[in-house]
Amino acid sequence: MPAKLIIIWDYDSALGQINSTMPYNFDFKHIYEEIENVENILIKAKEKNIKMTFACIGFAAEESVYPFGNASQIKKISEAGHEIASHSWRHEWFPHLTDKQIFRSLERSKQALEKCTGKENSVSGFVPPHSRPMSWYKKYSVSLGDRAIYPFHKGGDTGYILRQLSLLNYRWCRVLRSYKPVWEKILNSGAKEEFFFGKWEIHNDILCVPQHYTGFDEYARKYLEKAVEKNEALVIVGHPAALSRNKSESADNFNEFMNIAEGYIAENQLETYTVTEYADKFIRQGA
Ligand SMILES: [Zn+2]
Repeated sequence: MPAKLIIIWDYDSALGQINSTMPYNFDFKHIYEEIENVENILIKAKEKNIKMTFACIGFAAEESVYPFGNASQIKKISEAGHEIASHSWRHEWFPHLTDKQIFRSLERSKQALEKCTGKENSVSGFVPPHSRPMSWYKKYSVSLGDRAIYPFHKGGDTGYILRQLSLLNYRWCRVLRSYKPVWEKILNSGAKEEFFFGKWEIHNDILCVPQHYTGFDEYARKYLEKAVEKNEALVIVGHPAALSRNKSESADNFNEFMNIAEGYIAENQLETYTVTEYADKFIRQGA
């Protein structure tokens, strides 16, 4: 059986960039760059016949002024056959939100994105902004970086977010590749697991999609090679904005990664999927 590749883009867009962790590095030109990079990704995806998942900000799909609103581009992504997921309503720091804000952000982003694409019930995935919360109390996993402790901050627990997603008819949520209990973190600090393929678990009827690696560099290419060797499903995350930066997610690295993927696909060693396509075909079948 061929290996599987799932690419998820975190499309922050204007409001997401403003609300990102280092807002004081904000520069207006990055908004336009990001939009242009998404266009380039669409061209590349079409050229290689690869379907991807784009996690978008609900606000960007609503009636607004360009470039804060960019509904036509989100519609275009969807019409090209890619999956649209929610990346929240305005890229909030979820651990600090109230119960109501969490619910509304999840609800409104789903509604806005579905209205924009005209596809009812099509937004079934959620990609937490800033990858927070990282804590997951049910798994004895605590991240001080969330800056919010459950139960004082309900949004500081992945389990709580999953329950809200379930109430709103979401079906999947991206999580970090491995939640380690606190004691394991302490015992294994410094030990790096190479090319680990996290399991796809279902909690509260929400499929938890592991995030294996962010970027398209040498390491990502080796990860892909390993996935092909072991017939695994690899989840790679990218940020359209980062294609303009000379780092792991640079346009050059992305193009090279895509060329390698194309080669494996041609040899029937690899297939690519959106998250929902993959989940329906391999995880939830018969479930
Ligand atoms: Zn983001």
